[in-house]
Amino acid sequence: MKRLANKVALITGGSRGIGAAIVKKIASEGAQVAFTYSSSPEKAQTVKEEIGDQALAIKADSSRPQEIIEAIEKTIATFGRLDILINNAGIYIGKAFHEHTLDDYEQIMAINVRALYVAALEAVKYLPMGGRIINIGSNMADNAMGPQTTLYTMSKSALSGFTRGLARDLGAKGITVNVVQPGPIDTDMNPANTELADFLRSRMALTDYGSGDDIAGLVAFLASDEGKYITGTAITIDGGLNA
Ligand code: NDP
Repeated sequence: MKRLANKVALITGGSRGIGAAIVKKIASEGAQVAFTYSSSPEKAQTVKEEIGDQALAIKADSSRPQEIIEAIEKTIATFGRLDILINNAGIYIGKAFHEHTLDDYEQIMAINVRALYVAALEAVKYLPMGGRIINIGSNMADNAMGPQTTLYTMSKSALSGFTRGLARDLGAKGITVNVVQPGPIDTDMNPANTELADFLRSRMALTDYGSGDDIAGLVAFLASDEGKYITGTAITIDGGLNA
């Protein structure tokens, strides 16, 4: 039997990049998968079509709490349950600190932090014993790497505390909560063919970028029964960038 047979998962930001890889991997392990998207409807449709009836694409902007709540309700209405919540949607805002605006702060915190809190608050109404919450953070929570990263680093660091606290709140219910912290992964957010990529590669133990599949494999393990004793922790998967 497949590792995630009879499970239902919701992944935020599944239309592209790491999220799309997670959606496909979780589906390949036997789960029914709902995933959200915001500005890439065609890419979301492609992911959905690749998987078939086992997948549901939901338009929901993570910066709007009500849309996140409705996405969870729609997942329940379609598949009848929710076992695994994967908070993946995120944005990067990188600029000199003196150029930052209050809007930048509001936007990044709404999508990278508040959305995860809102999703967890709604999901715990449904998650059963053995449920999973997996947050996608960043290795930058522990290593800012350089200038122009303040907002992003701040937002991803918040997930460490959120994960530790929530793991303790939900432990008695048998629900695990972890944060996966990717390093350089070749996506639209962090393409592997830039000057920044060359700089990052020069700092890594392994000398190349990872792929969405590298992250998806770890996420699937945490979501499965094999990951049942792992909770309240951050797992960095960054090719040794933080080593
Ligand atoms: P991409 O920019 O390639 O993809 C982002 C995904 O998030 C898309 O599916 C996008 O959907 C979705 N998304 C963005 N904003 C919203 C929103 N407001 N509402 C709903 N969905 C949204 O990023 P990655 O795949 O690289 O990153 C995924 C996660 O991994 C993020 O949390 C990121 O911070 C983290 N990460 C990435 C690293 C990397 O090197 N790539 C390194 C460390 C962490 P749509 O296009 O439909 O709006």
